[in-house]
Amino acid sequence: MAKSAGSCYLSTCLIAAAAVALALAFNAPLCPAQEMAQGQGPAPRLAADPHADSHIAEAIRQVSADRIRQTIEKLVSFQNRSTISAQDEASIKAGKGIGAAREWIKAEFERYSKECGGCLEVKTDTFTEPPADRIPKPTDITNVYAVLRGTDAQQANRIMLVTGHYDSRNSDPLNGTDPAPGANDDGSGTAVSLECARALSKAASHLKFPATIIFLTVAGEEQGLNGSKHFAQMAKQQGWKIEAVLNNDIVGGDRSAQQDASVVRVFSEGLPAAAPEAEIRRIRMLGGESDSASRELARYIADVGRSYTAGVKPLLIFRLDRFLRGGDHYSFNQQGFAAVRFTEFREDFNHQHQTPRIENGIEYGDLPKFVDFDYVAHVARLNAATLASLASAPAAPATVKMQTKNLENDTTLTWEASTGAAAYEVVWRSTNAADWEYVQTVSSGTRATLKVSKDNVIFGVRAVDAAGHRSLPVVPEPER
Ligand SMILES: [Zn+2]
Repeated sequence: MAKSAGSCYLSTCLIAAAAVALALAFNAPLCPAQEMAQGQGPAPRLAADPHADSHIAEAIRQVSADRIRQTIEKLVSFQNRSTISAQDEASIKAGKGIGAAREWIKAEFERYSKECGGCLEVKTDTFTEPPADRIPKPTDITNVYAVLRGTDAQQANRIMLVTGHYDSRNSDPLNGTDPAPGANDDGSGTAVSLECARALSKAASHLKFPATIIFLTVAGEEQGLNGSKHFAQMAKQQGWKIEAVLNNDIVGGDRSAQQDASVVRVFSEGLPAAAPEAEIRRIRMLGGESDSASRELARYIADVGRSYTAGVKPLLIFRLDRFLRGGDHYSFNQQGFAAVRFTEFREDFNHQHQTPRIENGIEYGDLPKFVDFDYVAHVARLNAATLASLASAPAAPATVKMQTKNLENDTTLTWEASTGAAAYEVVWRSTNAADWEYVQTVSSGTRATLKVSKDNVIFGVRAVDAAGHRSLPVVPEPER
């Protein structure tokens, strides 16, 4: 499957390259994004060209479907991981309820850390949620996470984060005792976070990540996004520089007949939830409705998907989430962080939020037998490659400006130098294109003039290090 997707991609790429070459050779009219920076610097390249770091490719091969299966089966063994289920000492000892799940996840992170010579800092974030619709009495909620600290003192404050929710529910959101296996929702996302921690901490012995990676598992999702809300607020208050949040929720690849196991949906917000009114006005004036930081992150994941063989391709959905649903990425969006949601292509609602039972010949329940563990491993590889790429890359350029002082058809961009950058790349696309189409390298300096009209395309600037790791792109602000 991965092989055919790869060759399909290659032929598309070759056709596109041939089209550009032909258009240039015959001096045919070009669409706006195909205008070339004639006579200045190297010719633009196709932005869809893949580029991989062999060390990252090797690191993601460590992700194991069998480990993921073990993790999900272990999580299911706690019977009910509802946020309002048991977390007293006796229940933890008996291996029942959310308290036991929490302790097991913590021990698992600690085990990975031991295997990498203490490279992970294992932490908890505990708070008491006051009574609400789905919280009958004050309830302690604990987020469990592991920190792989960046190796570069100047960049260790940059954070990339992967998360899944380890709480589960059955048909009744207030039932904390009857089985609520939550194998897919969200044992799968919890397993992605854990397996990324295991694979990347293992790789960290020979692969240096200048920036920090956090592997998070939250609770309270099913009761009202409580855990992620608390964590995102804490991060905002403490000034954490979280550059990317990858939320994995329902990535089990339910084995229904109509499932498409070759893709995983990546949801991203358009207008930023945290943008104040003045910012929304600015976005409206500039035509920036599809360039939130979350959307740029989604495009980055598409790029990672083309560059590495994860076994699954990201399918970008330009929408915050599915109808009638929500997720932990939104808690981060609300605090102004770039955050996206990964979810399998087609959900089977008989296998989510259902008390296990057979009714009219239909089997209900979120059980391990409906989960495709190979698929979860593919999604984990895509996540791990994204985290490793971002944490290896220089910081995105700051203060990116586009000169709009005079009426002119050329475009001049300027930016501040980024720590760790060896060069920069200007990317652009037609205003009606979903993803970046062209890229031009700027090998020295922090300024570029392109023979492409700013009126017709959307530009971004990204930093590149000596090994070719690319930062997230930054869309320029007009400067008059
Ligand atoms: Zn969920």
